[in-house]
Amino acid sequence: MKQNPVMRICISCRKTYDRKNLLKITKDNKQGIMLQKGMGRSAYICKSKKCYSDSKIKKKLQKALKTYLEPEFIDIFEKEIASYYDYSNKGI
Ligand SMILES: [Zn+2]
Repeated sequence: MKQNPVMRICISCRKTYDRKNLLKITKDNKQGIMLQKGMGRSAYICKSKKCYSDSKIKKKLQKALKTYLEPEFIDIFEKEIASYYDYSNKGI
């Protein structure tokens, strides 16, 4: 069985990627802001350093999710993206 990839747009570079290659941030209706899970309004960021280390990314995220991001979340978010490798350097 072959599944079609689900394509989503990165909120920073506005390019379309397979959802598997994106970091998903969701404003969950019950649990608040979540990474890679949750149900509700979502925003996606690609795993290229240019995007996730964008100084405006938090503003873009807050705008996309229409919410204020707590500093605690920013901490979690930064730890999460720090664990990513930058595939933009690998020619993908
Ligand atoms: Zn991007």
